[in-house]
Amino acid sequence: MPVIKRVGATEIIALEDGAGPFFEPRGNAFPDATEAQWAAADAFDPASRTAEGGWWLKFRCFALRLEDGRVILIDAGIGPADSPAASWAPVPGALPAELAAAGIDPSDVDTVVITHLHTDHVGWAVVDQKPYFPEARYVLQRAEISAVDDLNPGLADSLLTPLRERGQLAPVDGEKRLAGAVRVLATPGHTPGHQSVLVRDGDDLVAVTGDLLVHPVQLLYPELAYAHEADTAIARDSRTRLLRELGERGGIVATPHLGEPFVNAGSAGAR
Ligand SMILES: [Zn+2]
Repeated sequence: MPVIKRVGATEIIALEDGAGPFFEPRGNAFPDATEAQWAAADAFDPASRTAEGGWWLKFRCFALRLEDGRVILIDAGIGPADSPAASWAPVPGALPAELAAAGIDPSDVDTVVITHLHTDHVGWAVVDQKPYFPEARYVLQRAEISAVDDLNPGLADSLLTPLRERGQLAPVDGEKRLAGAVRVLATPGHTPGHQSVLVRDGDDLVAVTGDLLVHPVQLLYPELAYAHEADTAIARDSRTRLLRELGERGGIVATPHLGEPFVNAGSAGAR
């Protein structure tokens, strides 16, 4: 069942599309992590470790239900059995059932925010050349759209073209307010136009961070690079900056891949 967190009048609903092992040893994915850092990460988030010492990851999306009833979906998961992520991710995903369990019909979704153009984040965005969320605008950073040929050339035809043809592609540049309490901001590095979503109401603050960090070891040690980042230095800068800011304000991080959907951003300082 979906896990829900409230920020003022906004509900943040964690939707689990799937879970499975990573495709390579975790030491390859985080080559600079030490034994002590792995031990701390395992103690913090036991669900991210397989019995054999590998990386077990969740594939989550998040839905925001606003005070006025509008629904914003953040990321679109691994997708159906024949999705582009099928070569490595545990398809088919369960997002349709998760949305139904949360009382959300695909046509209720007003906005889809795609944090970045990796296959495990766009799986349900467009299915069989048709937008799965027929009434939604799809918000992407313009820098990400421009980088599609480097990131995944197939997504130009299978994802961007159908959205463009139906007038559903909504490019943005940097920070943009989507609703009173909700804004996107550019957090580049994992990919050139990676973005995150901030939900804020008074002192309550949650950041839905896409792949700004992909493993608990990067929450505890934000300086640690992930081997599949487009630009390691820029990614590190985005990650340390946002986690520090959130930590200082008592903010929460909502991620696709960690064992728990919501974690305290201050965990880095508490290690
Ligand atoms: Zn991912």
